[in-house]
Amino acid sequence: MPDIKVVPLGAGQDVGRSCILVTIGGKNIMLDCGMHMGYNDERRFPDFSYITRAGRLTQHLDCVIISHFHLDHCGALPYFSEMVGYDGPIYMTHPTKAICPILLEDYRKITVERKGETNFFTSQMIKDCMKKVVTVNLHQTVKVDDELEIKAYYAGHVLGAAMFHIKVGTESLVYTGDYNMTPDRHLGAAWIDKCRPDVLITESTYATTIRDSKRCRERDFLKKVHESMDKGGKVLIPVFALGRAQELCILLETYWDRMNLKAPIYFSTGLTEKANHYYKLFVTWTNQKIKNTFVQRNMFDFKHIKPFDRSFIDNPGPMVVFATPGMLHAGLSLQIFKKWAADEKNMVVIPGYCVAGTVGHKVLSGQKKIELDKKSIIDVKLSVQYMSFSAHADAKGIMQLIRQAEPKNVVLVHGEAGKMDFLKQQIEKEFGIGCFKPANGETVCMETIPTIAVDMSLALLKRKVMSLEKKDAKRAKLSPHNNHLPVQGVLVIKDTSVRLVEPAQAMKELGLTEHKLRFTSSVILETTVPYHVFIEKLQSQLERLLPNYPVQRVAEGCLSVDDSVLIKISPSSDDVTHEASSCTALVSWTLQEEELGSHVLSLLRDRIIRPVVSLDESSV
Ligand SMILES: [Zn+2]
Repeated sequence: MPDIKVVPLGAGQDVGRSCILVTIGGKNIMLDCGMHMGYNDERRFPDFSYITRAGRLTQHLDCVIISHFHLDHCGALPYFSEMVGYDGPIYMTHPTKAICPILLEDYRKITVERKGETNFFTSQMIKDCMKKVVTVNLHQTVKVDDELEIKAYYAGHVLGAAMFHIKVGTESLVYTGDYNMTPDRHLGAAWIDKCRPDVLITESTYATTIRDSKRCRERDFLKKVHESMDKGGKVLIPVFALGRAQELCILLETYWDRMNLKAPIYFSTGLTEKANHYYKLFVTWTNQKIKNTFVQRNMFDFKHIKPFDRSFIDNPGPMVVFATPGMLHAGLSLQIFKKWAADEKNMVVIPGYCVAGTVGHKVLSGQKKIELDKKSIIDVKLSVQYMSFSAHADAKGIMQLIRQAEPKNVVLVHGEAGKMDFLKQQIEKEFGIGCFKPANGETVCMETIPTIAVDMSLALLKRKVMSLEKKDAKRAKLSPHNNHLPVQGVLVIKDTSVRLVEPAQAMKELGLTEHKLRFTSSVILETTVPYHVFIEKLQSQLERLLPNYPVQRVAEGCLSVDDSVLIKISPSSDDVTHEASSCTALVSWTLQEEELGSHVLSLLRDRIIRPVVSLDESSV
């Protein structure tokens, strides 16, 4: 049996460093190529030596697919392509291709320029890596080669995030990447065809969360910001231009309106320019509300939120500021943080992850004194809040996607082992399909059942439909799989086409004449009447016993039932005018009339006929 193999190099029973190897129909594909935010050493990248210890990587891998721009899904890509040496194609959507290098460059700067690491990928390597990228549009089938094709579906989550349907022959697989089944304030909900893949590889970050946890986090966030305002504190929200900044702005704007708050909210101008640029460029990837907004006004045209000027840093009184970059490693967000950190009335809300080594990471890990360089040390007295607003599917959403796609097997990645167990049980119970949760380096093999598409002739189809309407109808209703009724015909394989046709049509096409195979059995029938009378009696008896079939005399001493089963009766003695003591009946039929033929034979053989003949005889 053919099978599909899945082995995670990263994100196996873990969140971070997403990298999954898949073997399907003889093709090897790498799904995502991420880095782990929790490590500084070699564990931050997947162990690519697993793919091959000898020979060139490109020969072992048919393509790499990147689901979205988050670093835990693409952070190892330049290392893999430019330093490990993968030369093949890399597929991603247009927004991912536009935003991915900005994040990679940020990440490189922090690692090399701030932390002084050597042996890391360079800016040039990021550029060279991006040259190997082939972009894909949503719902566009892209042929990687003659046999392998991929198709992207909308995943929500972040701008440009996609799920991928991968197909080789009749085998197929879906990789979700990170996705969100409910629309948020700026993106739509993930959606996929009922594509019935053999395997669905899904993230399971919020595998045990059923209720709407995002609402709770949002309420929590608003409550904390409001409390700070009441205390007269200042709130800094360091953001990445294309993360959740837009969502948080919309959230605060509506809250300010509702609560009638007066404290100013600001955003750094760099943020609006970058965000507007990308949202305008990829407006088709956002939700309907944003699309409409763009027609009427600018993304950041808010009533309560105003552009920030550096001179506002020292303004008295409460305020909220959105500033880039998100990890507090440079620029305006770090500048503001330095000014505000020492006041315990203030608060910093970090809405996403921070790479190890950044000020953001140090703040989150609870450091109270942060050394920027030899001269400046920041005293951290303000309140620190971490609130992940990243949009992932919860357990309900994951079940909904499974219902949508109808896979034969599910593989859970990008989640914690314990939480996966809960979800695995749910999936097995509700859908009765296999569910796996491989650890990193552990291979899962899933058998696939090959299917062959066959064109069916119209005549055959009509006959099947008619038979369904008649005698098979009852059986069809009883069967749980109404579409699995057997169909008989002749399979004609010509070049690459496979067709099921009526036998007569097949013979005509192939220039063959029919070779008929008939079964013949003989029965000795005893009788007391003359031969010709016996035949007449036999005919009338058969007519009575087989009321639905015409019984005819077709030749001297020869009867036919339903024009198909033949009965030839020969007298045992040569003298046909005299009463014979016995006759020999030869009953013959073709394979197609097996049922009727053997029935007629059994009627004769079981002597059902003869006593009746005798009875009749006496009544004449
Ligand atoms: Zn993500």
